[in-house]
Amino acid sequence: MSSPLRRYFRACADVFFPRLCVVCGTRLALDEEQLCISCLHQLPLIRFASFSENPMTDRFVGLFPIIKAASCFHYQKGAAVNQILFDLKYRDNPQVGYVLGRFMGRMLKAKGFFDEVDVIIPVPLSRLRRWQRGYNQSEWLARGVAAISGIPVCRNAVKRVRNNPSQTRLDRWARMENVDSIFGLTRRSSALSGKHLLLIDDVFTTGATMLSLCDTLKAVPGVRFSILTLAWAGG
Ligand SMILES: [Zn+2]
Repeated sequence: MSSPLRRYFRACADVFFPRLCVVCGTRLALDEEQLCISCLHQLPLIRFASFSENPMTDRFVGLFPIIKAASCFHYQKGAAVNQILFDLKYRDNPQVGYVLGRFMGRMLKAKGFFDEVDVIIPVPLSRLRRWQRGYNQSEWLARGVAAISGIPVCRNAVKRVRNNPSQTRLDRWARMENVDSIFGLTRRSSALSGKHLLLIDDVFTTGATMLSLCDTLKAVPGVRFSILTLAWAGG
């Protein structure tokens, strides 16, 4: 928010419709968005020493070559990050995804994370889940990242045909010949040929969802994969 006019209108709106921090519920200052500065600074940041070899990329060793992987915050039950994810997914607040997407973008751009990435792919929701929620939270994270990195977002090259990955453990994945995929390519996926894709999701837990998405997208010739999530619950 830069122009004096916009600041003026927000200041007026804040009088009648005070904006509250999604974590602590206090009134936000004029320049704060979704989170107050105090809550933002208390979030448990992740600082992987390397983007190419870290606990996230380790999950894919022997399955898919992942060029880079990063996550912004540690996921802890009952903690602030959990509250933000709840707001993003269940309280009709996609805007918090956009704000935190921009936060991720700023944090990682300076470190060269987006260098050589061609296209951002938010992990799709099924049509039913998207209809229920009214939006795809990963898309809003992706929009925020795109606003900072300048990398285009592609939302229609791949679709989700089922909600959840099977309970297959990742170490068993490689040994299975026919894994039920939860995603399917669309006709527009040919535009991704030869591109370096950055897959964006809200939380990384077992990695099964990302793995399934890579498994589907590998049918596009010459694609390479990097991964970014808002939270890391991998321990
Ligand atoms: Zn707060």
